[in-house]
Order: sequence, then C-alpha cells, then structure tokens
Amino acid sequence: MDNGFQVRDRFADGAQFIGGRAQSGTSGRTHAVVNPATGEEIYTYELAGRADVDAAVAAARAAFPGWAGATPGERSDALHRLAAVLAEEADDFAYAESLQCGKPLKLSTEFDVPGTIDNTAFFAGAARRLEGVSAGEYSGDHTSYTRREPIGVVGSVAPWNYPLQMAAWKILPAVAAGNTIVLKPAEITPFTSLMFARAAQRAGLPDGVINIVSGAGPDAGEHLVGHPDVVMTSFTGSTAVGKRAAEIATATVKRVHLELGGKAPFLVFDDADPEAAVQGAVAASLINSGQDCTAATRAYVQRPLYDAFVSGVADLMETVRLGDPFDPDTDLGPLISHAHRDRVAGFVDRARAGARVVTGGVAPGAADGERGLRNGAYYRPTLVADAAQHSEIVQSEIFGPVLAVLPFDSDDEGIRLANDTPYGLAASAWSRDVYRAGRATREIKAGCVWVNDHIPIISEMPHGGYKASGFGKDMSAYSFEEYTQVKHVMYDNTAVARKDWHRTVFGDRP
Ligand code: NAD
Repeated sequence: MDNGFQVRDRFADGAQFIGGRAQSGTSGRTHAVVNPATGEEIYTYELAGRADVDAAVAAARAAFPGWAGATPGERSDALHRLAAVLAEEADDFAYAESLQCGKPLKLSTEFDVPGTIDNTAFFAGAARRLEGVSAGEYSGDHTSYTRREPIGVVGSVAPWNYPLQMAAWKILPAVAAGNTIVLKPAEITPFTSLMFARAAQRAGLPDGVINIVSGAGPDAGEHLVGHPDVVMTSFTGSTAVGKRAAEIATATVKRVHLELGGKAPFLVFDDADPEAAVQGAVAASLINSGQDCTAATRAYVQRPLYDAFVSGVADLMETVRLGDPFDPDTDLGPLISHAHRDRVAGFVDRARAGARVVTGGVAPGAADGERGLRNGAYYRPTLVADAAQHSEIVQSEIFGPVLAVLPFDSDDEGIRLANDTPYGLAASAWSRDVYRAGRATREIKAGCVWVNDHIPIISEMPHGGYKASGFGKDMSAYSFEEYTQVKHVMYDNTAVARKDWHRTVFGDRP
C-alpha cells in the first residue's frame, strides 16, 4: 500500500529537527531504515552526532525563557492546536508508524494515533492546572506558598516499539509544563517523532521548544543524557540501557525518570470466565507482536482451568493472521527487525529443553504457503507450557509474540509467582470474585493491575513501573508534575528585626 507518503521525499532534508529546521546529522555515520515486513531499505540518513546534540540542546536552551514565560493558557492553546494538526494528519502518521515498525495499520489507526491525539488534548488541559499546597500562615508569622516551575531543558530517549506514543509521552508533559526538550528516538524508527515535531511547528509552538536528534544510543544518546545543560533525563527502553543512562545522568545530578522493561503476569483464578481469559491472553500477548512493555508474558492459571486454557489459547493463536501490515485482514505484523526475530526465536529454542512448545516456535516459511512473508521478520504466535518458574523464558523480557503458561494451586502461590521476577510494570488478575481480585490488586507489585482485562491505557491514569521496571510516571497529572519543580516561598509577616527564633543562635531572650 502507498498512501502517497514517500519517506525519501518527506525527509529529504535529513532526520534531525533542531531549532525548527529539518537538517542532516553530522556524525559521519549513516543509518538505513529497513521495512521489517519486507526487509527493504526505505530511507538512509546521516545519524546525529555529539555536535548535533549540542546544537539541539542550545536551541532548546534559547527557547526556554520564552516558552517558560508563556502563560499556561497560551501553552494550552498551542497544544490544542497541535491536537488538531495531528488529527488532520492522522492517516500519514498511521502509515508512517506502520511502515517503520511493521505493525498492522489497524493498530496504528485505532490505537497509536488516536491515543496520541487524546494525550495531546489531555496535556493541553493539564497545562492550566498547576496544583500545590494552598498559601497560608503555617508558621503563624509567615505566609508560605508554593510555585510550580518548569525545570529547563529535558533530554529524553525513546524506544522503537511505539515510537509516536513514546515521543508524545515524553514531549507533552514536558512542554505543557513550560520546559523545552531534545528527544532522541530509536535510530531505527525516526519518522513519526520528526513528524510530531513538525506538526508542533505548524501548530505554532516556537522553534526550539521541541528538537529531535536521530542518533545511535551509545553516541548521541549518552551525550544527551550526560549533557551539562540538560536538567532532566527521561528514558524509556530496556532495563539494561536504562541503568547505564541513569549512571550517566546521576553523575551530572539530573532528575531521572526511567520507564523500563516488563514481564507482565496474567493471573487466572479458577472462578474466572474461561472464555474471557483465553481471549484476553491472546490479545494481550500478541498486541504489537508482543513488543509491548505491558504485554501479557506469563500466564499463571489455577489448576482446574489449566488444560482448557492451554488448548483454548493455542487454538486461538493459530487463527491469528500474519501478513502485510497494510492489508486490513492482517492481525500480526513482523517483529521490528530480523535480528530481533532471531533473538526471540533463540529464547524459544532454548526453552524447548525444559518446556513444551504448544504452538508456534517458528518463523512462517514457504512450506506454510506464506511466501509473501519470507523476507519479513515474522514469527508465529507462540505458546510455551510447563516451563520452570526460574527458567529464562519465564524470567526474561522476550519482547515477542510468546506467552509462557504455568499452573498454580493456591491463591497464595499464584500471587507469589506473579511477583517472582525482577520486573513490576503491569499485571492482570482474572476472577469473578471481587475479594480475590481485590487481593491481587493490592499484593501484586506492579505499576498497573487490570482486573478481567489486560492492555488498555488512558491519558488520565499514570503508567510506570515498580522494581526493575523503573520509576516515574508517564501520562496523567503525575507525569506532568514530574516535569516541574516545586519551590517554597516564605514571607515574614512580623516586620520584627530580632525574631523569636534568633535566640537559638545568639542571646537568651527574644
Ligand atoms: P533499548 O534500551 O535498546 O533502547 C532504548 C533507547 O535507548 C533507544 O533510543 C536507544 O538508541 C537508546 N540507547 C541505547 N543505548 C544507549 C545509551 N548507552 N545511552 C543512551 N541511550 C541509549 O530499548 P528498545 O529495544 O529500543 O525498546 C524495547 C525496550 O523498551 C523493552 O525493554 C521495553 O520493555 C521497553 N519499553 C518500556 C516502556 C515503559 O513504559 N516502561 C515502554 C516501551 C518500551
């Protein structure tokens, strides 16, 4: 499918957006963006290097006083206009997102793009609601109040799985609060971040408020995170790289926000609706080809439902249609790259020694009559049963269309197993008993616990991890607050030169 959107033309000036100008990188190294559905190179660009990061940070610094000085209402208006521009360009955004990621167009159209527009509208509203403790005479002799101020230049790093939404989650709360930002998208998926920055320019956000540097992690990424003029690092990506980013950011005493990996449990109690659990598990493990930090990855099913759940999930997985992301009949696109597909396959192959691959575990091939898919990074929906709790397939983030399923007996055991990985981003509990479900919501250590569903997100509610899944929140008023700093202002009301408390420093009497 071609909707008239030609990436080479659209990004002819390069894959950097600095100070309101599309431009080429100056690292001297190029990157070829590959369509993961076909293996074809679709766009080659010069990566951002350190000098480009410096230029972007300088542009953000220059734009900061003006943008921080705009009224909340002015910033809100600009973001409302941005939501309108995004809506006008929705088809292009959906197309570009599917092209660079390989995700089905129906997912980009129904999830990524409308979610981003809604987020933009949410932060347009949030920009006008700065909250804090009310002013008052808390000491008796002073009037105290708080100011909620923007911090300065934010440096953000985003992953490739939801490039548009991740860019929006980073950019929107930062600029709504009056900060300026330099965002580094994953170098393999630069398109929709660049389009978002251009849309913001069309909406009237001043040049320099949003800058995009498309560069490699160890080069442009580390330079951005460690940059002395960047006051906050907001990183979304793997736990391993997040730790490295945090080390660098901490060395320059930055505020750090980390949205890291996940290994979400899907806990099915024996009174759950079995059909709902099967449908939910397949949808939640395969969304975005399983390349979703909150995807269901470990299903724990209470023994009486176990066998039916395993066969129900396997049967439903086998009906999922792999195909061209632009074909409306396609349910599952490729993984992001061939290298990532091989990595996912490696996890499954190593699991075979101690577990049962019930369905999947292979890339589609000619033997399946799926020749059209052979050049893409496709992998079949995969169910792995009966692995040991401490095996790699149950403990490590795979980031592919792979669900492990294990039985449990008592409720205590199910909750213990659900908590038994280093991660804590998301989880779900399936039960028709409100007390059982309620216990799971209290005792599972994760930033989000769904009951009888798994995946939906909304702009008003926070998204973020516990444990090795990081700290800090995206979306919601909580994320908005993270991009502000709170100042206490205290006025003396007595006009007395020698104050009561001075006796603790000099003299006995007031
Ligand atoms: P990644 O950690 O490999 O890369 C993320 C970003 O960091 C990319 O832009 C990359 O270029 C950059 N990077 C790499 N090395 C760097 C370095 N040394 N310094 C600074 N930046 C560096 O992750 P990925 O493979 O792009 O994305 C998948 C991961 O993201 C998964 O672990 C997934 O769970 C996680 N994720 C988390 C959330 C969340 O909200 N918690 C959301 C989406 C994805």
